[in-house]
Amino acid sequence: MKSKKNKPLHITCDECGTRTKTVLTNPTHHSRLPSGRWVKMAFQNVEAEECPNCGSRYYSGETLHQMEDALQKAFRSRRRKLAA
Ligand SMILES: [Zn+2]
Repeated sequence: MKSKKNKPLHITCDECGTRTKTVLTNPTHHSRLPSGRWVKMAFQNVEAEECPNCGSRYYSGETLHQMEDALQKAFRSRRRKLAA
């Protein structure tokens, strides 16, 4: 049993049990830097699972990890980009 990377994880909605479908979203990810400062970063075309019945959205653990990683790298390496 092999699992391909980047394959979206299909789940069912926690709210109503409907099977979700993959959509592209433009989420804003919030996180805290090691310094304790809270920051946010906007992303585009991020895959999410959306419930066609009630509209709830779910992001995979891998997707959240990638957004967290990108945010941490951006704010750690270039402090000038803090302005948004
Ligand atoms: Zn639902």
